[in-house]
Amino acid sequence: MNTSKERTRDEILVLENGRILDVENERFIERGVIIVRDKLISDIGSRGEVEIPKNVETIDLKGNVVLPGLIDAHMHLTGMRTGDLVKEPLLTPYEVFVARAIKDLEALLDAGFTTIGDAGSVIALNLKQAVEEGTIIGPRIIASGYPLSQTFGHGDEHYLPVEWVDARTTKKLTPMMSLLCDGVDECRKAARYALRQGADFIKVMATGGVLSQRDRPEYIQFSKEELRAIVEEAEHANRFVHAHAQGSKGIIHAIEAGVKVIAHAIYIDDEGCELAKQRNVVVVPTLSVVEHILRYGEKIGIPPWGIEKSKEVYEEHISNIRRAYRRGVKLATGTDFMGGREAFRHGDNALEIKLLIEKIGMRPIDALKSATLYAAEAVGLSSLTGSLRKDKYADLIVIKGNPLDDPDLLLKRENILMIMKEGRIYKNIIEKH
Ligand SMILES: [Zn+2]
Repeated sequence: MNTSKERTRDEILVLENGRILDVENERFIERGVIIVRDKLISDIGSRGEVEIPKNVETIDLKGNVVLPGLIDAHMHLTGMRTGDLVKEPLLTPYEVFVARAIKDLEALLDAGFTTIGDAGSVIALNLKQAVEEGTIIGPRIIASGYPLSQTFGHGDEHYLPVEWVDARTTKKLTPMMSLLCDGVDECRKAARYALRQGADFIKVMATGGVLSQRDRPEYIQFSKEELRAIVEEAEHANRFVHAHAQGSKGIIHAIEAGVKVIAHAIYIDDEGCELAKQRNVVVVPTLSVVEHILRYGEKIGIPPWGIEKSKEVYEEHISNIRRAYRRGVKLATGTDFMGGREAFRHGDNALEIKLLIEKIGMRPIDALKSATLYAAEAVGLSSLTGSLRKDKYADLIVIKGNPLDDPDLLLKRENILMIMKEGRIYKNIIEKH
């Protein structure tokens, strides 16, 4: 990856002659100019509307399309390379997972992702500092760290001795450790522990799931009182709760308790859609992970119970998310990828945009809103990123061709001509085109 030197504070860079996609107003700004000052966009508009400072560095975008940097609002930076959730974590040294996760961060940025929302991996939480201090290169990380799960919950790995599962008691560090908590007091304490570790938001497992051995998506997990206590602790610390919620009742439970982001939403029904809209909840359907389990599951060692349940939920998931889209629920992109050699590989995360268009029938502009505007909302950063606006971060990508005409464009790295995060250029091959 080409990296440019960081400009000193207040140094100005002008990007001119771009076709800037204004996702909020669903239009292109032709012959667009973006003035970047330090980390922020200090002005933006079409040529003539924007005052261009003299004697400053200027880059000609040559009429190429400019998008806000992409966001994956639900993924896991684990360093996993197979789908074998049983053996791989036990047989691999923790440091190997961390080293692979560093490579995955590079791949994510190189694929045009300038922000990621990690919904459960302490590796992401800790590498956030390494990215911010510039030791390694990657997207901005917003992370939950350890997820909260009840005993016999989605985050309680049922095939392991219980004391190996909780991050506070295990002697074998693995990428996906949880905090097991039962009852209001333990839930409060676990939420506070997650915050103590640095969580940007709290992740809870509010229902059973596909990749948990002994439960099912429709099982409700945590009582309303427990969820309410976790939400309260998050809100006291000016944060929000993001729930894994798949069954229709568990989804409603979570939203009623004050959860702001619902992941997966396999069996979301009319009532769940209405509630999500009323409470301004963002739903992250994570279609990519199910798609990959069905395509690669056996080959990469997904346990047979995981493959079976994926087959069972696939069709209904798609039709329920279609209904949510028709009813106007805010949907955000999230792949639920963990990292991998082929399946779940970080860097292929634009697959979710393609699936939203092809499987859900989204208008391409809506799928791009999901990957920018609404995904920014889902990670709690809507005032700072997710659209190209004055005073937001200069997080942007320049694309060869129009992704509204062809969603496959974003899946090929060679079509991403420029990548900028917080005003810093990580790739620029515009001259070669
Ligand atoms: Zn997940």
